[in-house]
Amino acid sequence: MSLVVAKFGGTSVADYTAMNRCADIVLNHPATRIVVVSASSGVTNLLVELAQPNVIESQRLAVLKKIAQIQYAIVDRLARPDDVAATVDSLLSRVDVLSQRFQLEPTKAIADELLSMGEQCSSALFAAVIRERGVVSSAFDVRQVMRTDSLFGRAEPQIGELKTLATEKLLPLLSQQIIVTQGFIGADADADGNTTTLGRGGSDYSAALLAEALAAEAVEIWTDVPGIFTTDPRLAPHATAIPEISFNEAAEMATFGAKVLHPATILPAVRQQIQVFVGSSKAPELGGTWIRHEVENPPVYRAVALRRDQTLLNLHSLQMLHAQGFLAQTFATLAKHKISVDLITTSEVNVSLTLDKTGSDSSGQGLLTEVLLQELSQHCRVRVEDKLALVAIIGNRIATTAGICQQVFSVLAPHNVRMICQGASPHNLCVLVHESEANDVVAALHRSLFEV
Ligand code: ASP
Ligand code: MG
Repeated sequence: MSLVVAKFGGTSVADYTAMNRCADIVLNHPATRIVVVSASSGVTNLLVELAQPNVIESQRLAVLKKIAQIQYAIVDRLARPDDVAATVDSLLSRVDVLSQRFQLEPTKAIADELLSMGEQCSSALFAAVIRERGVVSSAFDVRQVMRTDSLFGRAEPQIGELKTLATEKLLPLLSQQIIVTQGFIGADADADGNTTTLGRGGSDYSAALLAEALAAEAVEIWTDVPGIFTTDPRLAPHATAIPEISFNEAAEMATFGAKVLHPATILPAVRQQIQVFVGSSKAPELGGTWIRHEVENPPVYRAVALRRDQTLLNLHSLQMLHAQGFLAQTFATLAKHKISVDLITTSEVNVSLTLDKTGSDSSGQGLLTEVLLQELSQHCRVRVEDKLALVAIIGNRIATTAGICQQVFSVLAPHNVRMICQGASPHNLCVLVHESEANDVVAALHRSLFEV
């Protein structure tokens, strides 16, 4: 049996009309047997508000009311609201109970269960929308199969157990009905199975994991943009959707700031060579982007990506001259402080590196602590620069195609380029520019590389 997993993001399941557009997509494609949903747009953010310490009672009640309004607006549009009203009632009273409990006992475990309620509601509602179309469907509690560790808020799925559980409990259901299940959430191995979450935006990851576990033929990520674009269309109005792209290129783009895909989404699909489709549930007729293991004739230039808010660390030491071990010492210090380095360039007595804020084990701001800077200062002079942006040209054979530098540098001529990285990867050429010039650089590169 060929199997497709379709995932719908928060805006795609925001209300009854949006859910019906998604139901059309599912029902038009008989191979789609598993539907993974995010919480209806806005609901997870509201739940996050409830999972804060010291929420005053009037505020708590106001948030509960907003969540109920979003969910009941969908129930009320159903031809037979009774089909799912009791389920939604009980899920919402669980939100009430959990949010009270969190105020008394603010644990990460309770926060995760609270956060999981959005997906529990949207999956129940989406299954009802499918049933309303006369097709057998039910909501499946993904916690029965999505086994994770107990790192609440950022739980890691246990791939082997997920596969065993999904094969045993989920697969047999698919021949009789369309299964609607929750993205973003899982459960640990505790006897009661504590609810966990995979991190904000984790639903794409859930869909890819389920596709991997069941060896699906494809996973579709339905969102509010018709695919992956050559660059952000707000920066270059002539940006176009890319019909087909390789896993390597897509992963590069995600790493370098393209927002369509959660970077980790790609990993389970890469492992199993499952193709991934990205499209807009509002306009499925526009098509979208297929991400495949291999594509025919990959072009030299594929896209331009932009990542703002970059910090550059410049280290200078005369000890480096004709010496050994300086880089080892520097990286050991950075690793000790759980800092992930992104780009790096070196000269005889200087090292420049940018900090990868997403990979570093810190919540952004606290990345460069005083302690770390002091430690580095013990063996070199440290300069920190911020307000920088990373512009990445993504493509293929970049390091081995003649003429690329000439073309890129002529575009960059009027700009001050703070750092360049080229040569390590065949898939990218990166330049670091001042934040204030970033939009112009992206637009100019797009014009020169894609609009001729
Ligand atoms: N609902 C979760 C969030 O908003 C997960 C997701 O949408 O992917 O982060
Ligand atoms: Mg989302």
